[in-house]
Amino acid sequence: MDNPCPVKTVLGFEAYDARGRILVLKNLLNNKLKIDGSIVKWAYSCTGCASCSETCLAIEGGINTPLLMESLRIDLVRQGKVLEKHEKILLSIKENANPYEEPVESRFDFLKEKKIARDSDTVLYIGCTLAYRQPDIALASIQLLENLGVEFSLLQDEMCCGSILKRYGREKEFKALAESNIKKLMDKKVKKVIFPCAGCYRTYKKDYAELNNTTIQFYHLTEFLDQYLKDNSHGFKMPKHVKITFHDP
Ligand code: SF4
Repeated sequence: MDNPCPVKTVLGFEAYDARGRILVLKNLLNNKLKIDGSIVKWAYSCTGCASCSETCLAIEGGINTPLLMESLRIDLVRQGKVLEKHEKILLSIKENANPYEEPVESRFDFLKEKKIARDSDTVLYIGCTLAYRQPDIALASIQLLENLGVEFSLLQDEMCCGSILKRYGREKEFKALAESNIKKLMDKKVKKVIFPCAGCYRTYKKDYAELNNTTIQFYHLTEFLDQYLKDNSHGFKMPKHVKITFHDP
């Protein structure tokens, strides 16, 4: 069987796959390896895709390499061992509410003339990537909800979800951002948040879980649509019937 790790496949060395990473981590813990620039670079070379967790079942639920690497990154950040490019991303989130160094005021430019309700207890959370890089997905998600007659609003002051901070081991900044994002939803009395972006959804649903004492419900768009179509007798209005294949990313 091919090695399940995409990074090992591209870079070729065992240090990049789950087994190699565990050996390096063991040597770091036993002070047999010193932390230098190459270790910091190596620590961030794991994409966190969890392909190894799916294939290596040495422990129940699969080996959790993403968690091991995120834990190491937290330690590295605590020791001040960070990558310069991550500092820029952190600054952009603080200044622009997104990691792409895009102006905060153009977050919803993709809407053009389109008007979305300002008040609803159901929010469609667009996220930085869809707002600035994949607006066609944002617009298609809006269109889907509108076609079904779902009432929803957008957060006019939507912020980055902080996924990238979590992945980079920036626990202090991540916690502050998560708490602020949850408070924003509570202040607006939001009950449901729908995410077209899998990354934002995972961040709110899983990574915020420890900090979130609210009853706000988080749905990926596909989950929401599945439930909505079960609860409501009417389906999509299709101009014509077409065959489609659904690809789960
Ligand atoms: S989580 Fe990291 S080590 Fe595991 S397969 Fe993905 S890139 Fe490789």
